[in-house]
Amino acid sequence: MSKSNLANDNGCGWLNQLPKRINIKTLNEDLISDYLIVGAGYTGLSTARKLTEIDSRKKIIIVDAQLAGEGGSSRNSGYLVDTTLNDGFTSNKDLKDYKKKVKIYDLGIEAVKKYVKEYQVDCDWNDSGKYFASSKIEDENKVKSFSNLLTNLNFKNKILFKDELKKRLGTSFYNVALYTKGGILLNPAKLVRSMVDTLSGKVELYENTQLLNWRHSNNKIECQFLKNKIITNNIIFCTNGFLRSLNIKQNYSFPITLTASMTRQLSDNEFKSIGSPLEWGVLPIRPMGATIRLTKDKRILIRNTAEVRNPNLMNEKDLKERTKLHALGIKKRFPKLPDNLIENSWSGIVCRSGNGSQIFEKLEKNIYVAGCYNGSGIGVGTFFGEQIALMASNQQTEEISLIEERKKPNWLPPQPFLNIGIYTRLAYERFKARSET
Ligand SMILES: Cc1cc2nc3c(=O)[nH]c(=O)nc-3n(C[C@H](O)[C@H](O)[C@H](O)COP(=O)(O)OP(=O)(O)OC[C@H]3O[C@@H](n4cnc5c(N)ncnc54)[C@H](O)[C@@H]3O)c2cc1C
Repeated sequence: MSKSNLANDNGCGWLNQLPKRINIKTLNEDLISDYLIVGAGYTGLSTARKLTEIDSRKKIIIVDAQLAGEGGSSRNSGYLVDTTLNDGFTSNKDLKDYKKKVKIYDLGIEAVKKYVKEYQVDCDWNDSGKYFASSKIEDENKVKSFSNLLTNLNFKNKILFKDELKKRLGTSFYNVALYTKGGILLNPAKLVRSMVDTLSGKVELYENTQLLNWRHSNNKIECQFLKNKIITNNIIFCTNGFLRSLNIKQNYSFPITLTASMTRQLSDNEFKSIGSPLEWGVLPIRPMGATIRLTKDKRILIRNTAEVRNPNLMNEKDLKERTKLHALGIKKRFPKLPDNLIENSWSGIVCRSGNGSQIFEKLEKNIYVAGCYNGSGIGVGTFFGEQIALMASNQQTEEISLIEERKKPNWLPPQPFLNIGIYTRLAYERFKARSET
């Protein structure tokens, strides 16, 4: 894996609104540690926070190949979800699995809430709920069956149609939606930046420090970086979309590249022209449709591409092509707003499994991994980070038992069959969602 495979673009609209990080430390000597955490997003930073709480005498090092928090954790759409729609739920077995899944989401929300409260984090938290919406009235049946499921599980929800949606969202694009009261909208970059800023002084953070490979050596783990080594007693992999490139759980997850764009702030007149709605977030009913938000500060955020790539990250030319798709998505929904509203575009990597399940386990003695959130990692990443720290400290909790009861990721075929399968699936979903991008 080359360094260029990991450095993200500078286009992230959330990050560009934050002050640039200073005092960056890069690994420049050989070190030893009790715990080495690889990857400093929500998962790795939460692992580090919890490990210091458990035993502050341990030497804890966290490394990231780029700047801490500036991978997927800053680049996402900011939905802290309580429910997701992209699950089959046709049999009682599916329903049982769905219940376990939403329980994990719930614990994820609780973990973030607790962290935000304890550290008094300003991340534009809004308990606004969210909409699963479609421009196709024939999706009403899907909406109804999802509504029944949620009602059975005591999630407050409401089916809405075009006129009400126009009032709430400021666009006539959507014909039907399920509004779910739970779920939070937030600023993802502010959240993860706070996790970097509040790291205990006892944790050593090294950035622009990419783990190249690792091996067992005399009951320890020897980790190789560009010029230096870290010899550690325990290693915890929190690299999400980059698990495969480190040969971790190779046959259970794969990376997907997403792109998003954010507009400048709408002017007062532009905002009035769409009916001055409150902040909102829409998720697509058809899996490859657009995720689109009106942010607290009156910007429109859109994500409407997902693809398998090699290398995962996107060059400037390809990103420009994706930006055109974002602009079209905005135009479809807000035809009267001016063109050229987009101020920032970026790509980011997520980790998917074949069946939407996450990875959380002890791989072998002193080696742990948490990740693969299938596009919903704000809450679950924070929660799994804390719990993997407990597991790596030989503690068993009710939460770990609960995580372990979830459906496990299924086995994936080797390359090139895997990529052929993913291409085909994404192309099919893209076709089905072509009206919704
Ligand atoms: C466009 C987009 C929209 C999304 N929308 C949502 C959403 O609305 N809600 C939601 O919950 N989730 C969303 N997600 C997913 C969410 O961002 C991720 O699930 C979450 O960031 C995972 O956190 P993490 O800490 O596990 O991984 P990451 O934030 O990806 O962090 C992993 C880190 O590991 C580092 N790394 C990788 N390899 C190495 C190595 N060899 N050595 C050292 N460091 C390494 C990377 O540099 C990276 O910083 C979205 C993602 C994207 C890209």
